[in-house]
Amino acid sequence: MRQKIVAGNWKCNTNLQEGVELAKAVDTLVANEGADDVVVVLGTPFTHITKVVETVNTDRIGVAAQNCAAEAKGAYTGEVSAEMVKSTGAEYVILGHSERREYYGETSETLNKKVALALENGLTPIYCCGEALEIREAGTQNEFVKKQLDETVFQLSANDFKKIVIAYEPIWAIGTGVTASSEQAQEIHAFIRSAIAEKFGNEIAEETSILYGGSCKPTNAKELFANKDVDGGLIGGAALKAEDFIGIINGF
Ligand code: PEP
Repeated sequence: MRQKIVAGNWKCNTNLQEGVELAKAVDTLVANEGADDVVVVLGTPFTHITKVVETVNTDRIGVAAQNCAAEAKGAYTGEVSAEMVKSTGAEYVILGHSERREYYGETSETLNKKVALALENGLTPIYCCGEALEIREAGTQNEFVKKQLDETVFQLSANDFKKIVIAYEPIWAIGTGVTASSEQAQEIHAFIRSAIAEKFGNEIAEETSILYGGSCKPTNAKELFANKDVDGGLIGGAALKAEDFIGIINGF
C-alpha cells in the first residue's frame, strides 16, 4: 500500500550525544502528537544508528543509513556494507542522494550495486533523483529524471521495484531555502508516477511512495503534501530540529 512517509536526512551533522538527544526529542513528539498514519524515518550517520535504534520506539520510527557500500564485504577500507547496516536494526538506506552523486562520484552503475545489496539484505532503499538548476531552466527535468530512473531502479524486477521508495529532490531546492512550488512538485511527481506505470503497470505505480525533498519546512509541508502524487518528504535541514520535524510530519 502507498505509504505517507517523512524521512529525515541528518547528513554529516550531530555528534553521537547530540544525535541521541535529537532522536529522543523526535520520539517523544511523535508519540505524543505525531499523525498515526505517517511513517517516520530518521536517517542518521552510521555511527549513531545502533544507539538511535535503542533510543526510539522502532514500532513507530524507522532508522535509515545515508549510504551503503557497493560491495558485499572485503578489502574496502572505510566502507559500511548493507549487511552491516541491516545488522544495526536500521530498516532503510538513502541511496543516490545528489550530494553523493556530486561529491563522491556515484554513478548509475555504482548505485545499481548498492540498491541490489540493500534489497538482498532486506533494507528499503529511499532512492533519490532530481535535476540541477540548468536542467530545470532548460525545461528538460522530466527527461533528466526519467534517464536517472531508467539507468537504475527501472532495471529492477517489478517485485524488487515494489520494495523501494522514490525521493524526488531538485538540486536547486536542496539546502537553498528555495522550495519547488506545490505545482512544480505535483507536476513532476505525477510524471514520475506515470513513468513507473509505463514501466511496471498502474498497480505498482499507485503503490509507490514518492517523496519530495528540498527546503521542506513546517510552513510549506502542508501545501506540498496536499498534492495527490506527493506522499511525504525527505527532509534535510529541518530534520535537525525536533519541533520543525514534527511540524512537517503533521503537515499531512
Ligand atoms: C536533502 O538533502 O535531502 C534535503 C532535502 O535537504 P534540505 O531539506 O535541507 O533542503
